[in-house]
Parts: sequence; structure tokens; C-alpha cells
Amino acid sequence: MKTITKYLTFHTEERFKLINITQDIVKVVEESNVSEGICLVNSMHITSSIFINDDESGLHLDFEKWLQKLAPHLPTKQYLHNDTGEDNADAHLKRQIMGRETVVAITGGKLDFGPWEQIFYGEFDGCRSKKVLVKVIGE
Ligand code: ZN
Repeated sequence: MKTITKYLTFHTEERFKLINITQDIVKVVEESNVSEGICLVNSMHITSSIFINDDESGLHLDFEKWLQKLAPHLPTKQYLHNDTGEDNADAHLKRQIMGRETVVAITGGKLDFGPWEQIFYGEFDGCRSKKVLVKVIGE
């Protein structure tokens, strides 16, 4: 069995940002030389997500609008978590909805996506460096 583990770092200038990281993951899969297997991608932080969806700018604005409606950042006093002195309770809630990780099958040495599927990093409490784990296992 072959295996490879990589840590990618993201640092956004914005509090909220969605980034297409598909090509970063493709590079790790190529480096692994795995032709049949599984690729796990997960955020290592509880205020950011990894998810799969369409790379369509209107949809990304829809995600942002929807998430800000469900868990608005302001007023920060509305969240008990922020009584700890933090101000990122909304980001924890957004992460929970958008998910921690994704797993993609590797077939014939390539990520075996459905039509339009792309991998995204979702940042909900940016302006600092955060890590994403990528693990490929297979033959
Ligand atoms: Zn927090």
C-alpha cells in the first residue's frame, strides 16, 4: 500500500472566503503515484471547512448570503461562545454546516469526480494561517 500525507496552509485577507483547492489536491494525488485508492482532505481548524460543490460565482455568493443569514457575525454578543472572549461563534456554526472533510475516490490515478465537482476550502474566520490535511492511500 502507498500512502502520502501533506499539510497545506491557507491565509486569507478576508474573514469569509471560499477557495477552489482542486489543483492543490490533484498535485498531491499525482505525487502519491496511487492509481486506485482514496483521498481524504480535511480542515484542521474548527472555524473552516472542506467541501465539494460547483465552481460558480453566483452559487458562492448564495452560500455566503445563506450562511450569513443562518449565523450572522454581528452582533457578536448574541452567541454564548463569544462570552469566552472570542468573537468567532458564527464561524464555528458555519463550519458545522459546511463540513469538516471530504473523501474522493482515486480511479486510474485521478480524482474520480462527478460532473462539476470541485474541492473548496471555506474560511469563516480568516486573517490567520490555517492548515488542511491531505492523505492519499491506495495501490
Ligand atoms: Zn471560537
